Amino acid sequence: MAQTTPNHTQTVSGWAAHDSSGKITPYVFKRRENGVNDVTIKILYCGICHTDLHHARNDWGITMYPVVPGHEITGVITKVGSNVKNFKVGDRVGVGCLAASCLECEFCKSSQENYCDQIQLTYNGIFWDGSITYGGYSEMLVADHRYVVQIPENLPMDAAAPLLCAGITVFSPMKDNELLKSPGKRIGIVGLGGLGHVAVKFGKAFDHHVTVISTSPSKEREAKERLGADDFIVSTNPKQMKAGKRTLDLIIDTVSANHSRANLGIAQGKRTVKGSMTGGMKETQEMMDVCGKYNITCDIEVVKPENINEALERLARNDVRYRFVIDIAGNSSL
Ligand SMILES: [Zn+2]
Ligand SMILES: [Zn+2]
Repeated sequence: MAQTTPNHTQTVSGWAAHDSSGKITPYVFKRRENGVNDVTIKILYCGICHTDLHHARNDWGITMYPVVPGHEITGVITKVGSNVKNFKVGDRVGVGCLAASCLECEFCKSSQENYCDQIQLTYNGIFWDGSITYGGYSEMLVADHRYVVQIPENLPMDAAAPLLCAGITVFSPMKDNELLKSPGKRIGIVGLGGLGHVAVKFGKAFDHHVTVISTSPSKEREAKERLGADDFIVSTNPKQMKAGKRTLDLIIDTVSANHSRANLGIAQGKRTVKGSMTGGMKETQEMMDVCGKYNITCDIEVVKPENINEALERLARNDVRYRFVIDIAGNSSL
């Protein structure tokens, strides 16, 4: 589809899955010209999110092959459109899950674009011109500047990449619940994976008492000693769960695997269960700035593009601490 779109004239090298085997192979495709509202980004790094795995393997039955995954993108701007005032060539920037939204609805107007019902995602979406969107497993991206954020100078581009999805996904509910400016709350983080470990870092940066709730007793030391968690509850241990009952003000559930929400009983008496999906653009920039201020990044394992398949297989087994990031431009010394 994209190949037949008239303004898609720029040839890009990337990596795509072509069928439900999910195997990623090199793939050359076209991107649109840099429009008046666009910026062109030389991609340096792209995080590997669970969503990428699901799309590559068509787990949700919605994949349009070939799919170029990737929505945790960092890179450097090489071109700006004539309407773009807030970015310049050379800026260090990031792109997350969003590629387009209507810009007119109440959500778009309040920079909650992620809830716009005409939202188009960074990959496996259909752009206004009818083309399928291709994500960050590629060397270059043309993005509407309204869905691009600046990356603070002090943050490394590789470890900052997963903030664009994993980071904003946990930051958004924390901000919603006013955890940024009311220290001293007792918060629980369910799951210590790509999202959970960043949630712990945010929780400690905002001066809260952080309890990690996990199925793996083996993660206790890591959670407490390296990430700074105050407490650790093994969710399969009824004694510990009972002792933890009603001790927490708020629980952030970061687990995507099927699990029982009954374990959230430890927040009984003052419970809210809220769903959230990534965050709006204003909030994403705010999250980045907060990360810059507190020096928060993801703990990552950098992989070469030729090792994407191995990384995806390890991700499927949860064998990663805590996020894989692809070195798209070959910058790091692996
Ligand atoms: Zn993601
Ligand atoms: Zn909208």
